[in-house]
Amino acid sequence: MTDFNKTKAFFKIDSNLIYLDGNSLGPMPLNAQARARQTIEDEWGKQLILAWNKAGWMDLSAKIANRIAPLIGASDGTVMMGDTLSIKVYQALAACLSKQKGRKVILSDRGNFPTDLYMAQGLIDQLDQGHRIETPPPEAVEASIQAIGDDLAVLMLTHVDYRTGRMHDMHRLTQLAQSKGAMVIWDLAHSAGAVNLNIEASNAEFAAGCSYKYLNGGPGAPAFIYVRQDIIPKLAPVLSGWLGHQSPFDFDLDYLPASGIERMRIGTPSVIQLSILDAAMEVWQDMDMLALRRQSQKLTSLFIKLIGEQLPDLKLVSPIDPEARGSQVSYAFEEGYAVMQALIAAGVIGDFRAPNIMRFGFAPLYNDEDQVQRAVIILTKIMRERLWDRPEYKQKAKVT
Ligand SMILES: *Cc1c(COP(=O)(O)O)cnc(C)c1O
Repeated sequence: MTDFNKTKAFFKIDSNLIYLDGNSLGPMPLNAQARARQTIEDEWGKQLILAWNKAGWMDLSAKIANRIAPLIGASDGTVMMGDTLSIKVYQALAACLSKQKGRKVILSDRGNFPTDLYMAQGLIDQLDQGHRIETPPPEAVEASIQAIGDDLAVLMLTHVDYRTGRMHDMHRLTQLAQSKGAMVIWDLAHSAGAVNLNIEASNAEFAAGCSYKYLNGGPGAPAFIYVRQDIIPKLAPVLSGWLGHQSPFDFDLDYLPASGIERMRIGTPSVIQLSILDAAMEVWQDMDMLALRRQSQKLTSLFIKLIGEQLPDLKLVSPIDPEARGSQVSYAFEEGYAVMQALIAAGVIGDFRAPNIMRFGFAPLYNDEDQVQRAVIILTKIMRERLWDRPEYKQKAKVT
């Protein structure tokens, strides 16, 4: 059983700060600094190119992937690190479409993170085979699967909605889509490290996610991709880079994919970033994901309850049912951006998503009930006294 009072000490977070934005960028694990220094000074600095072998740089991607695997319910050898989530979504989608000749619809929803939809748009423009993307409201996905039927090539969804925190029923939707002959891709950006998952039991063909959100790998940490075991050997990678080759250092002129999940690799890994992520993964060792999920639900439910008491007019846009919610809580408010700036100035960090969403992410590894209570007190004061109503809080920054 994980003791969530102890995991706090793993991170560097100012004790005055209430950090409710780990769903966007996880805080810095204290061991990250020493690990980065080791990678830079001892490995790169002293071993130079020899470090690819001596310091195990070339094996880091697979090593970390196998540390993430149990957190999403995947087996060893079915997850690989690399690149960004946008690219991993592209890889998965391209692989699906190449297997689904004749089927023309990619079904997503309008709550999906834009980059997933943009990557799909770019891919279908390039393929020029008459594919189209449908984006019904999240609640209507099931009806859309039924309606599209035989023309459904791929169901591609983000499991936990980045704005509302609404969580799709992964197993049910996967089964339904597959019963129509479709393939399924889950984006786990807001799920990995936040909710208990069993991707293998869902039977989905693909999943992908970030490592810089709830997994705390640091800004720009590489993404991961999961491929269902049985289809790995049948997969023809569209981004056929040299590190996905069966033997990169033979320098063959022809591409031959690696036999395993390595074929999802493309090019040279970001070693410094990976080494930091490797350090961040220590806190996840033997993590009881169901216990984490229960603790997360406790925090989000408490936040919703207290806000409901103090600010009954504030509009909750997250599901009230904790089972239908990821690890974040969002409220819609016209001046949400200004409110968030006022909150940040008062030491409570959340974020804002256009057009009017204030987002609060909760991570049991470093958030507790006391912080939830304090955050509500501060937000209540800001709202009641209109402390957000100042010009400097309305000046939009580049990153919101
Ligand atoms: C954060 C996020 C991304 C980010 O993609 P990158 O390529 O890593 O920048 C993609 N999809 C979803 C659903 C996200 O929440």
